[in-house]
Amino acid sequence: MRIAMIGTGYVGLVSGACLADFGHHVTCIDKDGGKIAALEAGIMPIWEPGLEALVTANAKRGRLEFTTELAAGIAGAEAVFIAVGTPSRRGDGHADLTFVYEAVRELARALTGPVVVVTKSTVPVGTGDEIARILAEEGAPEGTSVASNPEFLREGAAIRDFKIPDRIVAGVEDATDGGRARDVLKEIYRPLFLNQAPILFTGRRTAELTKYAANAFLAMKISFINEIADLCEAVGADVQEVARGIGLDNRIGTKFLHAGPGYGGSCFPKDTLALLHSAELAGVEQRIIATVVAVNDARKAGNAERVRHAVGGDLTGKRIGLLGLTFKPNTDDMRDAPSIPLVAALIAGGASVVAFDPVGREQAEPLLAGITFADDALAVADGADAVVVVTEWDEFRGIDLADMASRMRGTALVDLRNVYDPAEAKRAGLSYRGIGRGKPEANSAS
Ligand code: NAD
Repeated sequence: MRIAMIGTGYVGLVSGACLADFGHHVTCIDKDGGKIAALEAGIMPIWEPGLEALVTANAKRGRLEFTTELAAGIAGAEAVFIAVGTPSRRGDGHADLTFVYEAVRELARALTGPVVVVTKSTVPVGTGDEIARILAEEGAPEGTSVASNPEFLREGAAIRDFKIPDRIVAGVEDATDGGRARDVLKEIYRPLFLNQAPILFTGRRTAELTKYAANAFLAMKISFINEIADLCEAVGADVQEVARGIGLDNRIGTKFLHAGPGYGGSCFPKDTLALLHSAELAGVEQRIIATVVAVNDARKAGNAERVRHAVGGDLTGKRIGLLGLTFKPNTDDMRDAPSIPLVAALIAGGASVVAFDPVGREQAEPLLAGITFADDALAVADGADAVVVVTEWDEFRGIDLADMASRMRGTALVDLRNVYDPAEAKRAGLSYRGIGRGKPEANSAS
């Protein structure tokens, strides 16, 4: 099938490349000429494991093309996906749908025959209705239908998630389009049916809300375990063991129970806020999610305090080394990363900050004024009063802690991701502070 993808970012590029790999002919469209030129030259605009090989192979087979021209890109397509950004709107935190509606208007004017418009971007409930209204207003051909197919992939594991999804959610309106969107989506995802991936057909509004409910639930698990971690620190318990003890109960599950510096990234912060805003518009309270957001904001704001305590209560003149900056490992994405408020607070407190991230430097540099970048992980320890693990990149796990300690002028190791063994850190002469691993003094070597 011929498919067009409007928006060639993390979601659009991965989805487009995977759909091409399923055997469809996909044209990825983006208004960012630099991105398209790079892709045409075989250069990936984002860092995602396995992506380059997938894009190159499918481009070579002639199944994956790139363009900045929407009209040319959609020619002959039966389905047009919308995968543009839906960031938080300044002021009220609701989803900013400017990019979505701009793309829809441009699409409506360029269409020469009916297509199925599939919204992959995360959009508030009711957006599909508005898209249908705009299409009609702009004179899109009779028979054009609108479906919602939210994306659940995770950056860092995006290709696997797209190809082996836990489920596909497809919101369609059979009563208005005679089942056309359902049939087209079935055909698009046929290779996944063959792999037994469940496809859940729902109404359009239900699909839109399912995406927000999923992200809000995952955010809730993180805020939950972070609060339990605080309790662990106060009472001398270990949150890692608590998480395992509860997670092995099938009703709870082990995933998303890692205590840490708070959730960040391009989805959870904005999607929890947008869900709250949708609820407010609907006149329905969402007290749990409102609390999840407040707990997470406080969490992120509190990370610098942990570092301040670890260096004796005053950051002035202290040298702090950061391991990792991206919001999670295996991505270069810095959107809403906990490192951003951490760095700002450390610098405001009078510290100097040196950081290393395996792939995030390019995106981090414009966001983190006043820090210096090290060329390798251990170099952040040189002359440092404290080393702070901010992102749990695998390569940090193998660091020789004795080597780290010998390079530092202080002894504080603040492990915001619980990657190191407190006993090993202590043996290396470090004063270790993890998250929720007993009382901080109990971990301390000094
Ligand atoms: P992104 O910012 O990486 O990519 C969006 C792309 O759309 C950009 O390249 C931009 O230039 C392009 N664009 C904007 N308007 C356009 C237009 N009119 N025509 C053509 N191109 C246009 O965003 P992303 O992270 O891929 O997210 C896209 C959507 O998917 C969002 O709604 C997001 O919430 C959702 N989502 C993201 C993830 C994730 O992990 N990143 C996961 C699931 C869902």
